[in-house]
Amino acid sequence: MLIDHLGRKIEYLRISVTDRCNFKCIYCFLSQNWKWLPHSEILRFEEIETIVREATKFGIRRIRLTGGEPLLRKNIEFLIERLNKISGITDLSLTTNGFFLEEMGEKLKSAGIKRINISLDTLNRKKFEKLTGISAFEKVLKGIDIALDLGFNPVKINVVVIRGFNDDEILDLAKLTLEKPLEVRFIEFMPIGKNHIWNEGNVVTVKEIKSILEKFEKLNSTSSFGGGPAKMFKWKDAIGKIGLISPISEHFCDKCNRLRITPDGKLRPCLFSDYEINLKPILREGEGTLESAFFSALKFKPARHPLNFTLRPMIAIGG
Ligand code: SAM
Ligand code: SF4
Repeated sequence: MLIDHLGRKIEYLRISVTDRCNFKCIYCFLSQNWKWLPHSEILRFEEIETIVREATKFGIRRIRLTGGEPLLRKNIEFLIERLNKISGITDLSLTTNGFFLEEMGEKLKSAGIKRINISLDTLNRKKFEKLTGISAFEKVLKGIDIALDLGFNPVKINVVVIRGFNDDEILDLAKLTLEKPLEVRFIEFMPIGKNHIWNEGNVVTVKEIKSILEKFEKLNSTSSFGGGPAKMFKWKDAIGKIGLISPISEHFCDKCNRLRITPDGKLRPCLFSDYEINLKPILREGEGTLESAFFSALKFKPARHPLNFTLRPMIAIGG
């Protein structure tokens, strides 16, 4: 089993299936450095399936597909179907910008995705366009409703809070939980990549977010599916829940239960560290074993993440 020297049990794998995206979110895309990976460098479906099959032998139970935008990966539903058949995997989820849910939601559901996270940082169309570089606000809102109608459960909304950009919308975004059975999760802005727009001043801490929300009404603690780093709350009459995720102000490294795989097949023990183990030579040339790669990744999981900029932008890691 994947248990490190700090007793952290690793059972969750986030797999990024592409570094490409149809959005250009200002905090993630960071266009100045990144060149799209060539197709030959990106893991093929069979390779991802081999990794997951093998990883279940060491205790991986939960998989999240992400990107870039995972729904841009051609025939992603075929990969989902294959992963869904692997015994040992008890949870298969996806993080998306929501753009393609209208067209693809049903396919994803029947392929085996049970729950879904959708990113939405603002309820203002103009701001949405400024943030993402694309005119797709209504389409994403529709995608959220379709995800609910199709019965994905839970449907979580990821909000990255940036001071001076969307901190004035915290309450309005949280109020979505009064009307819809959503989990709205506020995430502190992280300095991933050569992030020229990040500075400590524009991080809005979860403490600050909570106090804004409690001015409206006291929050009651509650739980979320599968644990995870979010502290969960609920307003008394709300049908949805509110999550607060604090990678910056309150580390949750001692509870970290995950490893990541980048689209080009690098096993990454920590989001904030550029230490990576290349799985492609194992998969393509038979050099070494996946087992030894996973167990060495464990050794390189830091006790606490350093708060530094990383070489890879978020779009090429997978959030
Ligand atoms: N394209 C999909 C999406 O946007 O949901 C999946 C990939 S995206 C990299 C995954 C998540 O990472 C999104 O919720 C996004 O908001 C978040 N993210 C990206 N850059 C971030 C940053 N610098 N700080 C905090 N969260 C970030
Ligand atoms: Fe694309 Fe998601 Fe990054 Fe936005 S956050 S640029 S949608 S990968």
